[in-house]
Amino acid sequence: MSTQASLIGLDSEGLAAALREAGVEGKAVAMRARQLSNWIYVHGARDFAAMTNLAKDFRGSMAERFTLARPEIVTEQISNDGTRKWLLRSGPGIEFETVFIPEPGRGTLCVSSQVGCTLNCRFCHTGTQKLVRNLTPGEIVGQLMVARDALGDWPSTGENRRVTNVVMMGMGEPLYNFENVKVALGLVTDGDGLALSRRRVTLSTAGVVPMIKRAGEEIGSSLAISLHAARDEVRDIIVPLNKKYPLGELLQACRDYPGVSNARRITFEYVMLKGVNDSLVDARELVRVIRGIPAKINLIPFNPWPGAPYECSDWAQIEKFAEIVNRAGYASPVRTPRGRDIMAACGQLKSESIKERASTRHAELRSAELARMPG
Ligand code: SAH
Repeated sequence: MSTQASLIGLDSEGLAAALREAGVEGKAVAMRARQLSNWIYVHGARDFAAMTNLAKDFRGSMAERFTLARPEIVTEQISNDGTRKWLLRSGPGIEFETVFIPEPGRGTLCVSSQVGCTLNCRFCHTGTQKLVRNLTPGEIVGQLMVARDALGDWPSTGENRRVTNVVMMGMGEPLYNFENVKVALGLVTDGDGLALSRRRVTLSTAGVVPMIKRAGEEIGSSLAISLHAARDEVRDIIVPLNKKYPLGELLQACRDYPGVSNARRITFEYVMLKGVNDSLVDARELVRVIRGIPAKINLIPFNPWPGAPYECSDWAQIEKFAEIVNRAGYASPVRTPRGRDIMAACGQLKSESIKERASTRHAELRSAELARMPG
């Protein structure tokens, strides 16, 4: 096995440190870091040999020490609606999913922040997978790089890119992996790097209240909140994190979100669960509790998964609910389910990874076993 470290996920400081380790000194460090960063994040170079404007000796000495390895694709599935889901692997027992959702004129990549999740939201498939570990910056930004590789979507600064938006809405809770998500999204939004605008990057949280302000100040992406209920009694059950950070505190954090305005509205996600949170009383309560927050409400028809304890609301009910929200002055688009046939829709992601126990080998055996189990 190779012991060379991958440079993917390193920001300019990280690249500078790697260069010093490789014996580069003085002023050359910053210049070389800029050149490497350009090759890696703008052009998607997968090999030092491709960096043709750099001295051959230098390329050779880098290749001896480092790689440009991304997470490896285990499987690719393509939905009949064009959605693509990749199962990625970055080490023994470390598997996670990424979803590309093409739409006319844009393409959204749904990125994971953790393998598994600690939150146990009752309607979410990922919630049935225990947390294995946080993803590293390289594993997070690597999802965008793998997608660009697969879609032929380099250079990042070119016109008509296929991936135009990133949503941190895959597996895991991004605000429980704050530092790594921050580094990764810094690379994603770096104008001299992967070059997506901050507005086209959305971080979604189930409501880790103490981290929301920091996210606004230090990451500055758009914010989405997985609200799903407007009363604590209901939210306590379907999003158990609510018991720790109840609605009042969560909505106050939204009011205080740095940079929030009519031009930069917060998205509230609201999954439509039949008989649970979809009454017209719920709709009125929803518009009442968010009053004063510049917002749009994204209604998400519940996506089923094996053994899920809920059903999706009837279409007619979703429409009535949307109308109440809309009449109160909020945009209330109903999110079209994408990639349901390949289990790529919201809340359907899950991998076979389990937490490493006695040894890595043991974990590998277990996930092979689990993979063979039905359902
Ligand atoms: N932990 C973060 C990031 C996950 S985003 C968060 O909770 O925001 C994934 C989105 O899909 C969340 O809004 C989640 O609540 C929603 N979701 C989960 N399961 C779903 C399902 N079965 N059907 C529809 N939406 C679901």
